[in-house]
Amino acid sequence: MLKKIDHLGIAVHSIEKARAFYEDVLGLQCDRIEEVPSQQVRVAFFKVGEVSLELLEPTGPESPVAKFLEKQGEGMHHVGYLTDDIQETLNRAQQKECRLIHKTPVPGAGEKQIAFFHPASTNGVLTEICAKQDAENL
Ligand code: ZN
Repeated sequence: MLKKIDHLGIAVHSIEKARAFYEDVLGLQCDRIEEVPSQQVRVAFFKVGEVSLELLEPTGPESPVAKFLEKQGEGMHHVGYLTDDIQETLNRAQQKECRLIHKTPVPGAGEKQIAFFHPASTNGVLTEICAKQDAENL
């Protein structure tokens, strides 16, 4: 079951350049910057109440975010939902013939397990589900 919107991912060319808007204009604080090798991105986290913003900067040309930036430029990249049963959600999606980028979870930022739905099955919105590594701590 989905618990909440966990975060919104925003694709940027450079965290160093993009963070000025979030810090100086919106007055948010960057919690931390983390590299996620599985997605070839650096991620800067800004907490807004219960939800985080994640600025996603590619670390290499093969990064999915690099490809997104090439095609569409900077902007809204994905919506991340927190779930407590990531594999069950993926199994249900497959039964409904939903296109998945990940059929099993991969390691994401913040020590979470993540999986992406393909935007072809989600009305054009790249959709991520994520779960804390240790589901018992939910
Ligand atoms: Zn995400």
